[in-house]
Amino acid sequence: MTIQENLNNIKSTLPEHVTLVAVSKTKPISDLMEAYNAGQRIFGENKIQEMAEKHEQMPNDIEWHMIGHVQRNKVKYMASFVRLIHGVDNFKLLKEINKQAEKHNRVIDCLLQIKIAKEDSKFGMTTQEASEIIQSEDFSKLKNINIVGVMGMATFTDNQKQVEQEFKLLKSTFDNLKDVKLDNCNLQTISMGMSGDYPLAIDCGSTMIRVGSSIFGIRN
Ligand SMILES: *Cc1c(COP(=O)(O)O)cnc(C)c1O
Repeated sequence: MTIQENLNNIKSTLPEHVTLVAVSKTKPISDLMEAYNAGQRIFGENKIQEMAEKHEQMPNDIEWHMIGHVQRNKVKYMASFVRLIHGVDNFKLLKEINKQAEKHNRVIDCLLQIKIAKEDSKFGMTTQEASEIIQSEDFSKLKNINIVGVMGMATFTDNQKQVEQEFKLLKSTFDNLKDVKLDNCNLQTISMGMSGDYPLAIDCGSTMIRVGSSIFGIRN
């Protein structure tokens, strides 16, 4: 199967309200261009430097999403072009994104990463922490970021029941937070679901899926 066929197969199964992020980390430009030529315009990367290099080499009408863990000192390398940062998991990071966005006269959309997996290895904040952040005085001063939703990663397991519970936790977190309406906070997006679990994620309320290997093949 070609990248184009994979993309078309996946897209044909998606409800209209679900956005597909093509996760192209580790893959060469030629693969990304194949997806681009098949109509894909949203790409996700998990390393800032790699994303910046690909952004340089690819057409201008691409939306670049940072889906990985973000180190504060590297935000400056993507602030001029990144469209959505999925993995915002602390307030200091949010402040840095705001500062760098301001330098470029931009407002950068962000998702708050919520820890839904039981594994220790996964990043993210609790619903409580997310709620405290968006209701804080300090947060209201950040004019160059916009919180547009939440993101989560389920535990890496074959146990579908567990994955389902974790997805439902993200959906309920979203439901709890979405009534907060501020100039810089407007929750609409639930980013959950990857190659192995996106149909389940969609059943649980996902509006944005991040799919890599099912489009581009397995990574080394
Ligand atoms: C790599 C990655 C994905 C895509 O994973 P696949 O299993 O290849 O679809 C999704 N989300 C995040 C945060 C990732 O790092």
